Amino acid sequence: MPQRIYCSNCTHELYVGLELESPLEAIHKHGGLCPNCRKKLAFNIESIKITPVEMESE
Ligand SMILES: [Zn+2]
Repeated sequence: MPQRIYCSNCTHELYVGLELESPLEAIHKHGGLCPNCRKKLAFNIESIKITPVEMESE
């Protein structure tokens, strides 16, 4: 199931995809900062949200 990872501060999407890499990997790709609000994600799992993406609407 696709996963969505987004910033807990502004809800900017950081990663959406079929393969759930480590959430920390997604943070690392953005240099540890939210590209939208510049919140320091700091490799802290509590600073992001992860939700499964529902596919049934297609
Ligand atoms: Zn943000």
